[in-house]
Amino acid sequence: MNRNAELYNDIESILLDRDEIAVKVKELGARITADYKGKDVILIGILKGAMVFFSDLIREIDLPLDVEFMAISSYGRSTKSSGVVQILKDLGCDITGRHVLVVEDIVDSGMTLSYLKGVLATRHAASVEICSLLDKPARRRAPLEVKYSCFNIPDAFVVGYGLDFAEKYRNLPDIGVLKKEVYENI
Ligand code: 5GP
Repeated sequence: MNRNAELYNDIESILLDRDEIAVKVKELGARITADYKGKDVILIGILKGAMVFFSDLIREIDLPLDVEFMAISSYGRSTKSSGVVQILKDLGCDITGRHVLVVEDIVDSGMTLSYLKGVLATRHAASVEICSLLDKPARRRAPLEVKYSCFNIPDAFVVGYGLDFAEKYRNLPDIGVLKKEVYENI
């Protein structure tokens, strides 16, 4: 998609361009390949935000691996976490003794993933680590170790490359800061 496309009218500025994202995803895939060599690894993509990152990342990991998906409650039509986390779609397999890598789009307060990590820890995985495309460390409210992340970003609401606002903008190839008037008018 061209950057003059209509969908870009609501974008204040492009924070991360598709080419720089691709470079980082490739580097991260190589790191994960080295770290998980010889291990029984399962990647869990968190729907829907991580779908674009997830599909690019798994193609940069040179290992036999399984993929699974979970859906957990997000912000709905708001830009702030409610703090109430709910599993909307659970795993379809047993993770006992397996190395689990949870793949998320963005860690903000950390509340969603810290809750999810707690849930997965009760299921006897060999390890559970977090891999997030974006991290907003300045906004952290729950303690959470993010072992793998591509970019630390400032405190701004971003969309694109899978990330939405009210279910829109996921198909933008770049990551951009949404114009305030777009979400303040809802
Ligand atoms: P947390 O529980 O860490 O506060 O929230 C994580 C979730 O909030 C992410 O998976 C994502 O759905 C949503 N989120 C947090 N910051 C942003 C943002 O800047 N843009 C978008 N689109 N979603 C965000």
